[in-house]
Amino acid sequence: ETIINVDDVSFSYGTQTEQALSHISLSVNKGDFIGIIGPSGAGKSTLAACLSGAVPHHYTGTFFGSVMVDGHDTCEASLTDVSQIVGSVLQDIDTQMVASVVEDEMLFGLENFGVPHDQIEQRVSETLETVGISDLRDREIATLSGGQKQKVAIAAILAMRPRVLVLDEPTAALDPASSTLVFETLREANRTLGITIVVVEQKVALLSEYCNRVLVLNHGEIALQGEPHEVFAHT
Ligand code: ADP
Ligand code: ADP
Repeated sequence: ETIINVDDVSFSYGTQTEQALSHISLSVNKGDFIGIIGPSGAGKSTLAACLSGAVPHHYTGTFFGSVMVDGHDTCEASLTDVSQIVGSVLQDIDTQMVASVVEDEMLFGLENFGVPHDQIEQRVSETLETVGISDLRDREIATLSGGQKQKVAIAAILAMRPRVLVLDEPTAALDPASSTLVFETLREANRTLGITIVVVEQKVALLSEYCNRVLVLNHGEIALQGEPHEVFAHT
């Protein structure tokens, strides 16, 4: 069952003539755990932004093609509708997070999404449990480690129960042990909550261990895709 379908998408920023993405087609199945890898400037962040509807809504440039999310065309659907289906964790989580205490960060989205009040507490405690950070609930976010912060950002999005979670280099600032813990969290969300995962990640070992499918982007095109063992046999 397909949940996201990208059909012949090209995008160039602003007035640049060079395309950040060039004729990308891709479908994401429900339950997939997809990794996106490739050199700097390959278009990974731009593709991630397409999956969450930020491109073309929030980005200035020229967009061709279509991105269907759970039956909605993201060009026509409002970002509010798309964000009920696709949650995204940006590269810069410090800009993404809005509260100073972990619990408030969790509550912010739930209250804004209009989740009924009597369900909010259960949603918060369940999600903190799934992510393994129940003990951080009352902590100031500013006092947390990079790995802990990343988990809070993920938990706050997971609390909304999106059907797809898109993450842009969640381990970029983390040491190997914390990076593994973040991927364990993603695996847990994938398996226990049934959330489809798309993650931009540079660490081959993590992609090999956790993903069922890997896309290699280069110069705005999909250079290679397949199961990790197929893709990394070529590199
Ligand atoms: P990454 O390679 O990790 O995706 P970049 O360093 O390419 O990140 O981009 C960091 C930020 O700078 C992003 O917000 C991106 O949109 C912006 N950016 C990247 N390249 C350009 C560019 N050529 N002109 C303007 N902004 C850019
Ligand atoms: P990656 O995530 O693989 O590093 P990006 O998607 O960030 O790649 O960037 C793809 C291309 O688009 C690069 O050539 C980059 O310089 C350009 N780009 C990214 N963000 C911007 C931006 N805000 N303005 C102009 N060009 C950008």
